[in-house]
Amino acid sequence: MCGVFGVAAPGRDVARLTYFGLHALQHRGQESAGIAVSDGGRLTVLRDMGLVTQVFSERKLAGLHGQHAIGHTRYSTTGGVQWSNAQPLVHHGRARTLALGHNGNLTNTAQLREELHEEGTVLASTSDSEVVAALVASHPGRLEDAVAAAMERLEGAYSVVALSEGRLVAFRDPHGFRPLSVGRIDGGSVVASETCALDLVGAELDREVEPGELVVLEPDGARAERAVAPAPEGAFCIFEFFYLARPDSRVGGVEVHTARVRMGERLAAEAPAAADLVLSIPDSGTPAAIGFARASGIPFSEGMVKNRYVGRTFIQPEQGLREQGIRLKFNPLEEVARKRVVIVDDSIVRGNTTRQLVAMLRDAGAAEVHVRISSPPVVGPCFYGIDLAGEDELIAAGRSVDEVRAAIGADSLAYLSLEGLQEATRRPEDAVCRACLTGRYPTPPPEDRALGKLRYETAAPV
Ligand code: SF4
Repeated sequence: MCGVFGVAAPGRDVARLTYFGLHALQHRGQESAGIAVSDGGRLTVLRDMGLVTQVFSERKLAGLHGQHAIGHTRYSTTGGVQWSNAQPLVHHGRARTLALGHNGNLTNTAQLREELHEEGTVLASTSDSEVVAALVASHPGRLEDAVAAAMERLEGAYSVVALSEGRLVAFRDPHGFRPLSVGRIDGGSVVASETCALDLVGAELDREVEPGELVVLEPDGARAERAVAPAPEGAFCIFEFFYLARPDSRVGGVEVHTARVRMGERLAAEAPAAADLVLSIPDSGTPAAIGFARASGIPFSEGMVKNRYVGRTFIQPEQGLREQGIRLKFNPLEEVARKRVVIVDDSIVRGNTTRQLVAMLRDAGAAEVHVRISSPPVVGPCFYGIDLAGEDELIAAGRSVDEVRAAIGADSLAYLSLEGLQEATRRPEDAVCRACLTGRYPTPPPEDRALGKLRYETAAPV
């Protein structure tokens, strides 16, 4: 996950714009947040553990001056939850100093860390992101050439913003796994993981950064350079469509909310349920529940009220907190008593949340609990920036739909078909990654994948 943001706007309060941009990207990562500013080429970085509002105060923002800024909200996929892995990170290389924010996950980190070590480069963090920074910082050519050379060596997923030599660059991997869009603001240009961040700061969307493209953000717009050739087939993460992206963001010209409503409508046609109420699982399940209710004619109800300030269970990386968080998060309304209810959610990963929700509804007196999921079963891990858990933790891996139904305690369970999901996104099949749903990965998985995201914490320092 992770959210990245950047703005080049001399004369504007770029730190404050970035602060607001990060608010719109908070859902993409809640472990740490940071902002780097460049003032005539001099870099200042403030980053810390916690939410954007916990890391920044009025006093801290007032101390960040410059013409360019980048920001980052982190959710870890390689490297532990610790300050040294917070971003934007700063790397001092032989050719330049660089501040960098990364969304995605590399698949050849081990090999690149080894190569950098042999070249005498010392890495201060255990994330894959510093590998990107170190490659760019050690190249003696122009910044654009250094980025292009680094991109030739990187494999996997990366949407990156970086500040160096008084300039702001953004680049995206040749598969385009993670989103990245550029826009214009009064007096400058802006780049962000999602278009909702452009909206929040009053920027006008220009376009998405193309797979394999590098853009230099300048006050009069984003200047594009083709850094590496795009992959023959795109691999935009389909999980962004049904779970991760904010509903008011646009991907490939499609509003995420609208796509999710279509998923719910299609789900109602594929897997109808005899019920009295359709309940959503807020927030990412709500648009699909609206679509399901609309298409089935069954009344929609809020049913489950969410305690909004507890945080997303999926993002909590620690199992104990996750289990506790579910109980803190939802409270059923009395109207579910004696009703046959359908709960519509976007996905089932480990199954803990769904099982507890079903039990909670039964405790509240629901007569029947039917579960409908607006995506196909998650059967494989993700190596490209979403921490879905290992294969052994995925409830649908190696289980039939009925076995999953029994495990979560529902009266019935159905998933949206892969075709139905694809159709709802309005994107062609060869433009998206669906690997965790199909087991067919667009790139070779990392060789050291079995070691998990903390593999460089335990390895000898490289
Ligand atoms: S494996 Fe799944 S979560 Fe990962 S990029 Fe592909 S579709 Fe997205």
